[in-house]
Amino acid sequence: MALHISNTAFVKALSRLSPATGRPVVGCRRSPWVHLHLPLRQRPVGRDCLCAQSTVVGARRVWLSGRPRVDGQRQSSLTCALQKKSMAFGSSEVGSNVMPGVKAELGIELVPCFSDNYAYLIHDEEKGVTGIVDPSEARPVIKALEKRGLALTHILNTHHHHDHTGGNLELKRRYGGAQVVGPAADKARIPGIDVALQEGDTWHFGSHLMHVLDTPGHTRGHVCFYFPASNAVFTGDTLFSVGCGRLFEGTPDQMWSSLSKLISLPAKTRVFCGHEYTEANVRFALSVEPDNEELQARAQEVKEMRTRGKPTIPSTIGLECATNPFLRPSSEELRRRLKMGGNANDVDVFAAARRAKDRF
Ligand SMILES: [Zn+2]
Repeated sequence: MALHISNTAFVKALSRLSPATGRPVVGCRRSPWVHLHLPLRQRPVGRDCLCAQSTVVGARRVWLSGRPRVDGQRQSSLTCALQKKSMAFGSSEVGSNVMPGVKAELGIELVPCFSDNYAYLIHDEEKGVTGIVDPSEARPVIKALEKRGLALTHILNTHHHHDHTGGNLELKRRYGGAQVVGPAADKARIPGIDVALQEGDTWHFGSHLMHVLDTPGHTRGHVCFYFPASNAVFTGDTLFSVGCGRLFEGTPDQMWSSLSKLISLPAKTRVFCGHEYTEANVRFALSVEPDNEELQARAQEVKEMRTRGKPTIPSTIGLECATNPFLRPSSEELRRRLKMGGNANDVDVFAAARRAKDRF
């Protein structure tokens, strides 16, 4: 069978078999690794999809027919679709930081854990590596991996709290020593850590370059993982949507400095945080900035999403800068409500907002 589609990731995806039936699988809305939007009439019917669920949306019949014929025009549209590979929570353009020959951005899938934690399955189709960010517990992660027939190669921890590292050892055991990556400053408190990283370090997850930001405040050794080419940052319990982490081990100065690093990322950067706290955060935010129209719009959006049981994550840095009171110490309305004068510095306004939230 002569395939005229050169992208190896795509061929690999085509050749994947459903663990349930042994038949070829295709992409679907729940399978961010191969997610191609096609008109309804071109969607295959009755095929198994990567997620073993039924919402198949993304393969042309020719790919599964055994007689693939891809002419120039079609090939170029396929390549385009691959470059725009969408993810479960929105798509973004492929950035300039991708290594030569790598077209796809990082696949990211949210894995709910406990009552309100989010772990994130990350996947590099080209290199065949799969990681989990902040596995609170092993079971939902194993389930998500098995659903896709993937094996875990990496575990990334933003900080030591049990609801971010609780699954480390079980996952490491089960997947033959998956490598654990975490903050150097808290090395002793990260179960099974193999690679300790700190501010300024870069690291490769498959072919994806990751920058490490030290973001202490919530805990002493918190880090955030930034993938510039995929416009994604994993913020753990430093930055939430419309909120920020409590200051358990750090000072307001440290936390403000940490948040300032995140503010400086491009506005389109998607924020993948550690908890679904957005609805409660919005309530507090409206109490200190009720006239913020973008916050009002976000409140409405969050209400609708939660009513439908949908996650409010990811947000973006741009949206957070417009709606998150902890990133907006220069807001006159916020200062007025917190009884902070125009001369107060940003750290003091941030600290007052954090205290007010703790009492809210
Ligand atoms: Zn925490």
